[in-house]
Amino acid sequence: MQGRIHSFQSLGTVDGPGVRAVVFMQGCPLRCACCHNPDTWDFGGGKLVSAEEIFRKIQRLRAYFGKDGGVTVSGGEPLLQADFVAELFSLCRADGISCALDTSGCIYNESVERLLSLTDLVLLDYKYTNDTDYNKYTGMSMQSAEDFLARLDALGKRVWIRQVIIPTLNDSEESVRRLYALSERYSCIEKTELLPFRKLCVEKYRALGIDFPLENIPEASEELIERLKRH
Ligand code: SF4
Repeated sequence: MQGRIHSFQSLGTVDGPGVRAVVFMQGCPLRCACCHNPDTWDFGGGKLVSAEEIFRKIQRLRAYFGKDGGVTVSGGEPLLQADFVAELFSLCRADGISCALDTSGCIYNESVERLLSLTDLVLLDYKYTNDTDYNKYTGMSMQSAEDFLARLDALGKRVWIRQVIIPTLNDSEESVRRLYALSERYSCIEKTELLPFRKLCVEKYRALGIDFPLENIPEASEELIERLKRH
């Protein structure tokens, strides 16, 4: 089976545990204001590759994965090409390679359910803690994200919650408390990660001729992140 990928990163350390190969899928139905990868949005972009071809690239890196690492499929939105990712994960797991999925949780159907059955860890990007901002800054409802989380919980999946902290939008202690409180309701959550908002993507937006909606918002400092972690 073939899928559209944006890019392949050989060895990453920020998308899940340990050292990981990261596959960025092409295509995303959301329009997050803080998106770092607007070049992944176009469903017709990227390049067509076979699951087997990507698997071989991952396999060549397995000596670096150690006991915690493996592959993470990110995006774009990997759930859009759930059948392709499922085939890739199936090949990886048969070879003992651990599989993580980085997603917004915006789609749920039979293909996604099958993909989840082949996923060891879900990195769920839970972007805001109120519905108004969720809709306004992503185009998705918070209820959809929470419904996805509830399904992961029911399936007994391992989950890491991740949120990009954006000064003035979701950096209040109250908001972060609500985020951490999810783990009281959903025992599948192993970890909650706060990621600092960065603006390295500004040039990408310029090159694509798209306005970056958060251009005037400052980056999140390490101090802010550390303070919020102690909420
Ligand atoms: S879900 Fe990810 S790729 Fe899609 S718009 Fe949001 S941040 Fe960008």
